[in-house]
Amino acid sequence: MKIGLYGGTFSPPHIGHYRAAAAFLEQFSPDLLLIMPTSVPPHKRTSPYDDPKHRFNMASLAFEPLCRDGKAVVSTIELDRGGVSYTADTLREIYRIYGLEGQNRVYLLTGTDMFLTLNLWREPETIFSLSHIVYASREENDGEACAEKRAFYTEKYGAVVDRLELIPYEVSSTELRAALARGEAEDGVISPPVLEYIKRNGLYGLS
Ligand code: ATP
Repeated sequence: MKIGLYGGTFSPPHIGHYRAAAAFLEQFSPDLLLIMPTSVPPHKRTSPYDDPKHRFNMASLAFEPLCRDGKAVVSTIELDRGGVSYTADTLREIYRIYGLEGQNRVYLLTGTDMFLTLNLWREPETIFSLSHIVYASREENDGEACAEKRAFYTEKYGAVVDRLELIPYEVSSTELRAALARGEAEDGVISPPVLEYIKRNGLYGLS
């Protein structure tokens, strides 16, 4: 079974997340992509708006078009486990739940910012041995840094790495939160049902 894992805070989800997930489904044809809102992210400060319930609901709305045919699902594995979400733990859990064996690596989809720091995550050896990394460019000029990191991961950890074919779309949740608070989120950056949800729940300074 070919399983993909796309983790994130998704606070809120934006078009960059959606395009990466859609391109991954198209190019790698997994049996299932698990879109995984983190419980407590290890590498970020959280804010009141990072309530897991809201992040899960927003991810469900944002990725709904990709979930219709059952090839993707917004998963609660990390939210149910609670506490700080470590990818090594999540990978082990996915192996257990889906009865995977060593040769069936989970496809781990990340943007380039995450890809460049993977060796600093908890248990990098576990992550590299249980997953096949697929990275998506977030900026026009991150190619060289990624190529260097890819060579390093391959040599040091025996990592299996692929690059997603994707024209970068430079957007982040941080920028989007600021734009929402100013009432200036651009059309197309956030899906209408997510924007509606944010307004209804008064998130990110919107009402
Ligand atoms: P923040 O600005 O709050 O740090 P973010 O925009 O980086 O948030 P996350 O939820 O942290 O969003 O990202 C989840 C995953 O999606 C990460 O692997 C990240 O690298 C990737 N990602 C985020 N934005 C993009 C983008 N514009 N293009 C491709 N991948 C992206």
